[in-house]
Order: sequence, then C-alpha cells, then structure tokens
Amino acid sequence: MTDSHHNVIIIGGGVVGLAVALEITRRFPHLRLLVLEKEDRVARHQSGHNSGVIHSGVYYKPGSLKASLCLTGAAAMVEFCREHAIPHNVCGKVIVATYPEELPRLENLRQRGEANGLTGLRLIGPEELHEIEPHATGLQALVVPSTGVTDYAVVCDKYAELISARGGTVLTSAAATKIRRSSHEIVVETPRGSFSTSSLINCAGLFSDRVARMAGDAPDVMIVPFRGEYYDLVPERAALVRALIYPVPDPSFPFLGVHFTRRITGRVDAGPNAVLALAREGYRHADISPRDLAAALAFPGFWRMARQHWRNGIDEWHRSLSKPAFVRALQRLLPEITAHDLVPGGSGVRAQALKPDGALVDDFQFVPSGKVLHVLNVPSPAATASLTIAKTIVDLAANDLGLR
Ligand SMILES: Cc1cc2nc3c(=O)[nH]c(=O)nc-3n(C[C@H](O)[C@H](O)[C@H](O)COP(=O)(O)OP(=O)(O)OC[C@H]3O[C@@H](n4cnc5c(N)ncnc54)[C@H](O)[C@@H]3O)c2cc1C
Repeated sequence: MTDSHHNVIIIGGGVVGLAVALEITRRFPHLRLLVLEKEDRVARHQSGHNSGVIHSGVYYKPGSLKASLCLTGAAAMVEFCREHAIPHNVCGKVIVATYPEELPRLENLRQRGEANGLTGLRLIGPEELHEIEPHATGLQALVVPSTGVTDYAVVCDKYAELISARGGTVLTSAAATKIRRSSHEIVVETPRGSFSTSSLINCAGLFSDRVARMAGDAPDVMIVPFRGEYYDLVPERAALVRALIYPVPDPSFPFLGVHFTRRITGRVDAGPNAVLALAREGYRHADISPRDLAAALAFPGFWRMARQHWRNGIDEWHRSLSKPAFVRALQRLLPEITAHDLVPGGSGVRAQALKPDGALVDDFQFVPSGKVLHVLNVPSPAATASLTIAKTIVDLAANDLGLR
C-alpha cells in the first residue's frame, strides 16, 4: 500500500531537483509530480551554501556540457531573476595573474572563453586593473563582463513556489529511506509515507551515489565532499572589493582558488577553499562521520586521488587550519588585506564525483537506468546553469523514462 501514486518523483530539493521539477511542470503540466526533500526546507545544502555567483562559462572545456549549459544557463538565470524580481547584479569579474607563469594560463582562459562563445573578454594591464578594482594588484587580468551575483536560496524558494502553483508537490522532511523497484512501479519510502511512481529522478546532491545504490543500481563513482570555507570582510573594509576578484585557477584541480566576492547583499567574502570534508554534510572541522569515512577509504579511487592530489590537499588543510596562510593566499590578489579585516564566515560542502581510477569527474554526469535517472555530478556552475541543466535532464527523461 502506498500513500499516493505519481508519474514522476524527484529526490532532492536543491537547485537542480527543483529546476527539473519546474521544467516538468512546464513541459508536462498534466503529470503528477512530487519532490521529496529530507530537510525541513529546500536548499539547505549546496544550493543554500554557495558563493551566489552567476558564472559566465569562461573556465570550462569547449564542447563539454558545463561549457554549453553554463553560457545559456547564465543568460536564463539572469532572465529568471529579472522576471521574478529576484535581486541580482551582472557586475563582471576580473581574473588576476600574479605570477609570470600564470600569464599563458590567463591567455588560455581568454581563448577558452571565446571558444565557448563569451563576448567582451579583455586582457588588461595593472593600470586598468587599478581602475576597475583599485586595491587589487597583478601582472595582467582578464575582464569577464557577463559574470554576476544572486542568491540561489531565494531562487530555490521561487522555483518551489512556481512548482506548487503549477500543481506539483514539494514535500519536505521526507527523506527517501528505501526504494523498491518492480516491473510496473517504483516505491519510495519516507518518514512521511510511501509513494509510488512510474519514474524517478535522483537529484540528491551529496547523497546521489547512495540514493542510486538504494535504487538497486551500482554507480561507478563515489561522491567526495569538499568543504569550502569563507571569511567575511569586516564591513569597514568591504570597500576594498568592488565586485569579484579571482586568481588564475590551477588547471589540475576542479576548484577556482580563494577569491573575493561582493555578494548581492553587499557583504564581501573571501574563499572558498576546498578541504576534503570528513562527513558528507561536514560543515565544520568537528563534523566527522565514521560511515562516510569508511566508505571513502574503501573506495579504490579515493587512494588514487590521494596519491595524485596529496600536495594540494595538504595546502588546503593548512589554509583551513591557519588563518595567516589563508590571508597570504588572499594577499596575492589584494596586498592590503590583513587578518584583522577578516572574520570567520560560513561554509558549504561540494558534492564531487570521483572515479575508481582516482580522477575527479569534470563534467556534469546524468546516468539513466530503466525508469530511473541519476544525476551524479552537478558541481559548480550547476546553480548558474540549473535551468538549462533541467532542460537537458527532462529531454533525457522524456526519451529514456518515457515522460509524456
Ligand atoms: C562552497 C560552494 C560554492 C559554490 N559556488 C557556486 C557559485 O558561485 N555558482 C554556481 O553556479 N555554483 C556554485 N556552487 C555549486 C552549486 O551550489 C551546486 O552545483 C548546486 O547547488 C548543486 O545543486 P543540487 O540540487 O545538485 O544539490 P543540493 O543543493 O545539495 O541538493 C540536494 C538535495 O538532496 C537532498 N537529499 C539528499 N539525500 C536525500 C534523500 N535520501 N531523500 C530526500 N532528499 C535528499 C538534500 O537534503 C539536498 O537538499 C558552489 C557549491 C559550493 C558547495
């Protein structure tokens, strides 16, 4: 016996699950749709703990899903914010080279951005950088005019409101604890009841690999949690940063390096770093999950990743435990900044898929299995690109899950 039957259930009320639900209500308004979220409100994890940047698409490998979906997704996000009066600002950003060896990488980024279809990219020297960001210093900078900021928790609330207005249901405090599959239906058990469905989309973020296993599949990736920690600039020093100031990223690592972000609220933060977290929802150093740790240590890819990235890992932990080390990384971009200007801010935990060979999955990854679709890797810029990621996932669901 189940409490109700649905045409499609989505597990996960983050920005991706909600965007997918919204797209389904738009394309297939007659379908009975249910979103199950384990927390008491939507966007409690990655989608409510991020930098709030509307990324431009400059970083991603041409031809990748990230590149194509980010560029169109950013435009769609700005349009969505405009349409629904959600605060946003297309303020632009500068990516600053501070060492000579970063200059060719900055030029590569410019070429990559242009190959991805971005317009208005410009390499500038220190004087023009000084005009844009008077307190930043560097040898050269890339101006990216289409980058912006918003608040993705507000975006998620609006997605949820529109889903309900169009007849879908977003059920919170409803963790999927068991999934039973038979030839004619899928049943998802939660503390708020059992729900049957013809098709299921797994958008469970940090737990997407576990939900896939719960559904009887054997994903070949494991989700590794990388915590991003922030400091806030004290309000008296927030004027040091006008918009967004980024370093040139390390191409061997999927994170962007600590940077400055003037958020949509006007608050300026510094970070995030990328520290291997000891729990999937490990927002603090003290958060340790023996289950998560044991699963990570038992996965062969974990040790291979550790062998490849141990140096980066130690540097990140060092910056995490030592404020002076964090400040030194920031001083490369903004020499005037001191430890007194920074107070501890929040943190977020990224869900990053890891392959058995130790490689961190770079692109978005969606894996169909019968009437179930698993969204297994949607790291940054997935909040930016959520509306276009949703279109791609719903196209797949229409083909593979038979959504009509
Ligand atoms: C520190 C940080 C900074 C970032 N900065 C940016 C940025 O500036 N711009 C950008 O575009 N992207 C950014 N990102 C990436 C972006 O936030 C994520 O890519 C995006 O939020 C992923 O959305 P999601 O819906 O997949 O995951 P989530 O938001 O984590 O949602 C997954 C949901 O599934 C729920 N769930 C899990 N298990 C179950 C279960 N068993 N039953 C029911 N529900 C379940 C969870 O509670 C959660 O709400 C950043 C991420 C982090 C962590």
